[in-house]
Amino acid sequence: MSQHDIDHILTGKVITLDRAGRITDAVAIAGDRIVAVGERREILQLKGPRTRVTETSGAIIPGFNDAHAHMDTEGLRDRFPSLGRVRSIDDVLARIAELAHATPRGEWIVTMPVGDAPFYFGGPIVLRERRMPTREELDRAAPDHPVCILPPSGYWSLLPCYTALNSLALKLNGLDRASVSPVAGIELQRDAAGELTGVVVEHNYPDSAQIALLPAVPRFSPQDRRDGILRSVRAYHAVGTTSVYEGHGCAPEVIAAYRDLWQAGDLTMRMHLVVSPTWATCDEAEVMMRDWLAYARGAGVGDATLRIGGIFVGYGGEPTAARAARIDPADLGWSCYIKHANDPAEFEKLCMLAAMHDLRIHTIAVDKLCELLPIFERVHAAHDISRRRWVVEHMSHAAASDLARLKALGIGVTLIPDYHVWKVGTRFFPLSEADRELVSPAAQLDALGVPVACGTDNSPLNPLAAMRAMRTRRERTTGEVLGAGGRTSAELALRAMTRNGAWFSFEENVKGRIMPGYLADLAVLSGCPLTTPGEDLEGLSCLATLIGGRFVHGNI
Ligand SMILES: [Zn+2]
Repeated sequence: MSQHDIDHILTGKVITLDRAGRITDAVAIAGDRIVAVGERREILQLKGPRTRVTETSGAIIPGFNDAHAHMDTEGLRDRFPSLGRVRSIDDVLARIAELAHATPRGEWIVTMPVGDAPFYFGGPIVLRERRMPTREELDRAAPDHPVCILPPSGYWSLLPCYTALNSLALKLNGLDRASVSPVAGIELQRDAAGELTGVVVEHNYPDSAQIALLPAVPRFSPQDRRDGILRSVRAYHAVGTTSVYEGHGCAPEVIAAYRDLWQAGDLTMRMHLVVSPTWATCDEAEVMMRDWLAYARGAGVGDATLRIGGIFVGYGGEPTAARAARIDPADLGWSCYIKHANDPAEFEKLCMLAAMHDLRIHTIAVDKLCELLPIFERVHAAHDISRRRWVVEHMSHAAASDLARLKALGIGVTLIPDYHVWKVGTRFFPLSEADRELVSPAAQLDALGVPVACGTDNSPLNPLAAMRAMRTRRERTTGEVLGAGGRTSAELALRAMTRNGAWFSFEENVKGRIMPGYLADLAVLSGCPLTTPGEDLEGLSCLATLIGGRFVHGNI
């Protein structure tokens, strides 16, 4: 490497995450690649006449790889006005009246949820009345506009989630006292006389009320999705994320938005999208897998910025919600994928078909690994899947003996530590100490040699929050530690949010480490994520993010 070829030298605490776990001082970049890594003095000798040198006191790490991000949702949160920090029904009504004043008569007023962003925990629990406003109350604030206060996505918050509509909004959606929800798990609240109150209570993941009951409420347009993705990308770059793996699957509408941005050269995040299929039956699935999904086989197709490969197939699920999701697959609400419902026999049939067509399966396990394993083992006996990198997504907990069975199948696992440990950790308090340690079991999977990567689930989007949850294992309401033995080392927490994600997109030889030949995807943090105590990780800031050697956030 001649010194004239070096574009940029960065110095700081360089955490390489190479096999030896080397920590050093400097990294040299030429074009989109890392070309040299080593001691500051030695690397600075490579400086040529046009080499830029950035000296920082921060820590330089491989950029974060968010292995389950729902990234597109982040930018949609700005699409509708916020209600602000409301504390009573009167506060809500004042805000709605203000919006009505600024909105032409007859046009929709759609707002973000009641509750405190970004989580909206408990929804109306923040209001003095501890309930949502009724349609009569909303009518008083906006008699001439249809009004819809959206629910949060169940993934940001906790179920149940609440929607509130005024009388005009109910009418435009054809809802009256005779209406019943076509989807189980959605409740239309009624008053003592049996009339609708305008409040809709959702008990499903992902939220189905908008899709199934509220077709007249303005939905996200293709332009909203593209603009939202660009806002999302900026927000994720600002916390140091350089790659995203969307293993929960993306609906055609979402894939199209990413594809448009990629074609225009506007996509900077490195994305791997898994296909969320729209089939209604196993027969339709067979045709789609054979005739239409050839592009998604194996590692998929694409380039270093956008790659599409693999399919998501749900295990279990509410059939009425899945039916509603297919009425108009472009109407997704906050979700980015199409809801599935497959019983175990259907799931096995779909897995067999997928294996036949070399389509790797992604499925959300939560606590069902014990039911999925025998199915995967039967599929494996018929079609060797051990090198196909199938993925169990969003796993909450499993028995140690079940985790070990994943190894022979070559299956990788994504975990959402901030969700299962910090956000809903109380659900696992009744378990024995040994079983508590197996909630979000990154340490155990890593020790078994099972590929494991962590995601943020967009709740919140900062990977440092996920790393805090992995290392401290503290539950949010009590501060109690959930299975101290399940804590990860600082090194594993960092690796699970960076290097490990590359395996899931077949890119472990080009990204996730700071090594010559690897892509120059880097994050510069204000402090060291290995020596900062777990509790304090979120105090670190991301000073700069580089993708392929170019700054996408900060410019130090
Ligand atoms: Zn998710």
